[in-house]
Amino acid sequence: MLRLEDYLHIVGDEEIARILRKARKLYGRHFVHMNSTYHGGGVAEMLTTLVPLTNDANVDVGWRILHGNSDFFAITKQFHNSMQGADIRLTEAKKQIFLDTNRQFSIFTHIDHDAVVIHDPQPLPLIRNYQKTQPWIWRCHIDISEPNRELWDFLKQFIIRYDMVIISSDDYRKPDLPVEQRVIEPAINPLSAKNEELTDEHVGSILGNFGIPLDKPFITQISRFDPWKDPMGVVDMYRKVREKVDCRLVMCGSMASDDPEGYDVYEKTRERAGDLIDSGNVILITYESNIMVNAIQRAASVIIQKSLREGFGLTVTEGLWKEKPVVASRVGGIPLQIEDGESGFLLEPGDVEGFADRTVELLQDPELAGSMGVKGRERVRKRFLITRLLSDYLDLITDVLEARG
Ligand code: UDP
Repeated sequence: MLRLEDYLHIVGDEEIARILRKARKLYGRHFVHMNSTYHGGGVAEMLTTLVPLTNDANVDVGWRILHGNSDFFAITKQFHNSMQGADIRLTEAKKQIFLDTNRQFSIFTHIDHDAVVIHDPQPLPLIRNYQKTQPWIWRCHIDISEPNRELWDFLKQFIIRYDMVIISSDDYRKPDLPVEQRVIEPAINPLSAKNEELTDEHVGSILGNFGIPLDKPFITQISRFDPWKDPMGVVDMYRKVREKVDCRLVMCGSMASDDPEGYDVYEKTRERAGDLIDSGNVILITYESNIMVNAIQRAASVIIQKSLREGFGLTVTEGLWKEKPVVASRVGGIPLQIEDGESGFLLEPGDVEGFADRTVELLQDPELAGSMGVKGRERVRKRFLITRLLSDYLDLITDVLEARG
């Protein structure tokens, strides 16, 4: 059971006392988060910690999951991609499935909370199915700076009903959206199984269980098998790294239940890395385990995040927290986290050569890698830990309730 006191030694007394002061204003209030999966991906990752810690601060909060069938999730994944700019054939049938699933869910889900937080596009139209008597907030975790126009216009009719929209970066502000927009940066839980401290022995035994040898260094990308995470590009850059340094590549991507594209992209990545997998130099893992991710990130020499688009990129935060140098694309929320040349390196997503060169540089210079890691951890401690996120949510709920009067 997570307790706020457990964070005292990480963020200090003042920060925890400030959270408890903010929570007092919300005693007796009750609000709810809704998204579409309990596990897989960054949103579930944050809610898993945020919800119990909010309750521990004595502010009553629940978490509900929108249920949908595979058609629904295939469509909402297309929406997700298209909100980040991909093309879509937005047919009436797709819109209907999207709306019907939300309507069905609303029939058996009563909402009598003081405020509602809806995460991402899947449950977005729910707002239309209720007699709204409380503030509703749409928390958008993806990069919506250049969405597909047609889809954006379709979804805007729902977004406009919300009291506030929360985005992860100032760059995602929508001038054509007449709804108050606020930036809340995501965060990680330093005490979760994914981020807690592990001894070297423990790391070694976990990696042994998952068949990852430690006889030579390895680099890693931890990400769902998703075209936007560019797993093929990671294989390509690794081929170049290998020409200069003998190391392995470990790619880990569990399958999120709201992401039907995973198996297809995994298969393509496997084909791309075929010979390297056979020789044991590329290791692909689809098993889901937080402690395994923790161990991989801790044992890796360099962490890669070669995304083409990225809402925020919690995997970058996790890597930095573990004092690892991160070589990543200059997209989405990643530049908020990495100061280029200080806590890692930022590159254009298509710059395979650049990714390889920077990775080689770090593999060959452990001192540089170490000093970057130290700076990265400090940045995360100040700005991207779950206690700061909790504090921002308490402000948010207080503000929307006050605005209501
Ligand atoms: N993750 C995981 N196992 C995997 C792949 C990803 O636990 O095989 C976790 C990862 O550690 C991170 C989250 O899923 O906590 C991904 O969040 P991020 O913001 O990086 O990307 P998203 O999946 O939300 O696009």
